[in-house]
Amino acid sequence: MKSIRLIQGDITIQKVDAIVNAANTSLLGGGGVDGAIHRKGGSEVLDECQQIRAQQGGCAVGEAVMTTAGLLPSHYVIHTVGPTWQDGQHEENQLLQNAYINSLKLAEQKHLQSIAFPNISTGVYRFPKFEAADIAITTTVDFMKNAQHVQEVHFVCFDVENFKIYRQRLAQIDTSDVQILGI
Ligand code: ADP
Repeated sequence: MKSIRLIQGDITIQKVDAIVNAANTSLLGGGGVDGAIHRKGGSEVLDECQQIRAQQGGCAVGEAVMTTAGLLPSHYVIHTVGPTWQDGQHEENQLLQNAYINSLKLAEQKHLQSIAFPNISTGVYRFPKFEAADIAITTTVDFMKNAQHVQEVHFVCFDVENFKIYRQRLAQIDTSDVQILGI
């Protein structure tokens, strides 16, 4: 049975096939979860990000790329770039949805079974947390219904506010395709 698990804590300690990084378009690391992943993953992660930059000049908003996880307990890091919230009139919802879909597609293409997401765009990028949680959850549940390889998705909430929002939203999910755990 496919499952979605809610976790409160630090994504860098997750033992899954891939953790997702809320990166920026430069792929060179930054603050928040991006900083934590690069600090703990070590130089191998940054080296591969630099190779991707050399090939394609970074990562556009809504797109995703994959690297090794270096010293982290997961096997890979999927770096995706969420939108910066402006006023809701700059395709922010669509771009956030794309960030989740393209990360999940990459995991599926690489035949990965388990993947952990942070709350993309809800930190420095200021995306409203309720809306961001709805997009993350509905996009993921929809994707999982037809996934061949992705069996287990973790939503890792670092801050209590996001955790409570996810707990409430996940409790309302009504599907027989995916089991909801950790709520
Ligand atoms: P963005 O620029 O996409 O908003 P941030 O890293 O600023 O990215 O914030 C995204 C989310 O990541 C926020 O909800 C923040 O609380 C969370 N976060 C920060 N550090 C970690 C971590 N170590 N593990 C999981 N989530 C984290």
